[in-house]
Formats: sequence, structure tokens, C-alpha cells
Amino acid sequence: MLERRTLLALAASLFVPAHAEAGQRCEGESCGEDDHYALDELSRNIPKSGRVLCPKLELVTHLGSALRYDSPTKVHPAFRERLIAFEEVVASEARRHFGRDPRRIVHLGTYNCRRIGGYPELVSEHGLGNAIDVAGFDFAAPRGSHVTGGWPRQHDGAFSVRLDRHWKLDPRVSRESRFLRALAQRLIDRRDIFRVLLGPSYPGHHNHFHFDCAPYRLIDVFDVNARW
Ligand SMILES: [Zn+2]
Repeated sequence: MLERRTLLALAASLFVPAHAEAGQRCEGESCGEDDHYALDELSRNIPKSGRVLCPKLELVTHLGSALRYDSPTKVHPAFRERLIAFEEVVASEARRHFGRDPRRIVHLGTYNCRRIGGYPELVSEHGLGNAIDVAGFDFAAPRGSHVTGGWPRQHDGAFSVRLDRHWKLDPRVSRESRFLRALAQRLIDRRDIFRVLLGPSYPGHHNHFHFDCAPYRLIDVFDVNARW
């Protein structure tokens, strides 16, 4: 176990971007209950300029397990397992807030061979099929009469929840905002799913959550200066 921790710390020290300094490098179980993740030892270092060459990895197409995505995701098999766990958390929070599962998870992308913005020497976790950008969720009208009362009228039929529209609303008033915040908090607490969770408080993320399994832990979702 010690050897494993040393390896992980060494690997992390090679490519932890400065933006993760405020976070926490994975050492042993510090990133979660997962002591080993398939992509931990893979170097993220790439030449600072020229065409981005992403490591050749076998990726899989994942349409969704507990829930569907609006378009197929292309991810590493290890990340697919995390997405399946993520879908279960989404479904559970959605039932708590809206009495039903979302019809689909709306995402902005998974695999994409590119650099981390501002860190030209590092390949993005998206370039490993190890990340997803989630913009929101679409809900269909409930089937049958299992949802009765208790929900605001606008949630009787089909509706959408989007980070760019609902996150900034006062969660004391907006059920959508409450749902997104509760979901984010549960995912942060579930250290066995994602290690990096970025949201509206992180630059460039006003309209989506970015989740990945980099070899370090970084959480930046909630604006500490929010007025509620
Ligand atoms: Zn992303």
C-alpha cells in the first residue's frame, strides 16, 4: 500500500496543474475510497506547442445505464463505471426534488483531445476520455398518476433544468436551483465517484459542471460569496 501511495504521489507531482494546488493531490485514499484508478499512472505531459497528441486508449461508447444521455458519451471504461454511479445519484436526487427520474442527462462533451486551458503542457482529462461536462437535465411529464400534488405547477409537465438558467436563482425559491445544489453536494460527498468537480464558481463554467477522475482532488463549484 505504501508503495502504491508513493507511486501515486510521484505521478501526481509530475502533472498536477497549478489550478489544483488549492485542491489536494491524491495520496493513498485522499482522493476517495478508490485506492486505484486505471489512469492514475498515465502521464498528462505533452509538448507545449504543436498538434496535441493524446495517449491511445481504448474508449467505449456509453449511452447511459440508470439514465440516458442526450447523445452518446465516449469514455474510458474506468470512467464509464463512474458515470453509472453518477447516474444513480442523479436519479435519486431527481426523485427527491421532482418525484421522477430525468428523461435524459444533457452533456456538452466527454472525449475531446485537447490541452487544459491555460496549461499548454498538460492534456485535458477530456483527452483521456476521463471527463464529462454536464449542462443539465430534461424531464418528461410524469407517466400515470404516481406524481400527485406537492410539486409546483411548472413541474407537472415536461421541463428542463440547466446550470446557466437555474444555478444563479435563489435556492430558497427555485426548486431547480435546490436540485442542482443538492446534486453537486452529494457528488462532492461521494468521494468514490469523481475527484475533480468544477462548477459555476470556477472560471468558464457558468453553464456546466465538469467532472473528472484526474489523479488529484479539486473542488470548485459553489460561490462562497453567494448571497444566500
Ligand atoms: Zn470539462
